[in-house]
Amino acid sequence: MVKAVVGANWGDEGKGKITDMLAKEADIVVRFQGGANAGHTIVNGYGKFALHTLPSGVFYGHTVNIIGNGVALNIPVLIQEIKSLTDKGVPAPNLLVSDRAQIVMPYHILFDQYEEERLAGKSFGSTKSGIAPFYSDKYAKIGFQVSELFHRELLEEKAEKAAGIKNVLLEHLYHKPLIDKEELLVTLDSYREMIAPYVCDVSAFLDKAVKEGKTVLLEGQLGTLKDPDHGIYPMVTSSSTLAAYGAIGAGLPPYEIKEVITVCKAYSSAVGAGVFVSEIFGEEAEELRRRGGDGGEYGATTGRPRRMGWFDCVASKYGCRLQGTTDVAFTVLDVLGYLDEIPVCVGYEIDGEITSDFPATARLAKAKPCYEALPGWKCDIRGIKEYEDLPVNCRNYVEFIEKQIGYPVTMVSNGPGRDDIIYRKK
Ligand code: GDP
Repeated sequence: MVKAVVGANWGDEGKGKITDMLAKEADIVVRFQGGANAGHTIVNGYGKFALHTLPSGVFYGHTVNIIGNGVALNIPVLIQEIKSLTDKGVPAPNLLVSDRAQIVMPYHILFDQYEEERLAGKSFGSTKSGIAPFYSDKYAKIGFQVSELFHRELLEEKAEKAAGIKNVLLEHLYHKPLIDKEELLVTLDSYREMIAPYVCDVSAFLDKAVKEGKTVLLEGQLGTLKDPDHGIYPMVTSSSTLAAYGAIGAGLPPYEIKEVITVCKAYSSAVGAGVFVSEIFGEEAEELRRRGGDGGEYGATTGRPRRMGWFDCVASKYGCRLQGTTDVAFTVLDVLGYLDEIPVCVGYEIDGEITSDFPATARLAKAKPCYEALPGWKCDIRGIKEYEDLPVNCRNYVEFIEKQIGYPVTMVSNGPGRDDIIYRKK
């Protein structure tokens, strides 16, 4: 049984918490895309953790955690992250890394910085983790696969080729120090030492696991609106954030994904540049940011303040549709308990017409939000375990949004912890 946990929006919907929670019943958790550019925040008995590369199942002794071939693998960051867990008393995770995963090279990170410098004010708001240069090289077929670390001659040949191409740009476009091939090989040798204990033929491992009836969770990073094809291109990430890509980025047949749990936050937040129709500003935004998430809406990886907004039914309906949602996990609802009235974006006005269909980027830029205000519930809903025990205005908020987006909300999260969850029937 394979399930995917993915985001409907711009990321930071609380996927880490939902994955950590569902991992209790899972045998395997797989990261299938993205890199160390974003993070999940997880709160559990060991403390509070920001995971960037490790799958969110690492806190359970019974789960196998896998970094799939679709991930941008930064080896030293991964090793550091494992250490940050074990330093806090978490047992060393059971971890496997795909032999087909590709490696984020030191020069990918540098190129990310240099390109942002070059673009100056016109930059994409990159986290400078090397993700865009990494995926560019992957598809330009000059990337390095983990398996190649174990073939020294091939590695030398490839390092020579990569340095040759990169040095042209370093010299003539960026005017920065050149790559030394021998130095690069020393780095790659050290990567081999670090990663060797974890390397595995992941698709073969998963094939066997699925045939044995194991439960596999595919854990997405970011959300639909950051997908390079279906998101707000070009202000997107460089790998697909959709559940469908879970099949490719893990190495599984697409028909094995039986459940798609799409995580939607009860209000909106986004990091980086790009159109954000229901964005709010000033004191209203500052208050939501301060109260939001668990200790404020600031990036788990970058610490950047997140852009804030009201719930966007247009973007979320689209976000859920592209994910192929079977279940919506509606998170961070507890945070809204301070508001008298809660605006919800129910349509976009574009060129004088109102639509509930999320458009492609050029048209999106013209969209203005249409709001409907729902009454707040003005109390703390943390600790409530049964849906019927939620205040009526709170249930109305959930049901109003459920109707607008058209997908069943089967989980309501009312706190950051593993047990802060209310299940609902479809
Ligand atoms: P992810 O990348 O989708 O996992 O999202 P993040 O971890 O960046 O952001 C979610 C934040 O909200 C984290 O700080 C979580 O601990 C927190 N969180 C998740 N679910 C809830 C919830 O239901 N209530 C509250 N108050 N915080 C939550």
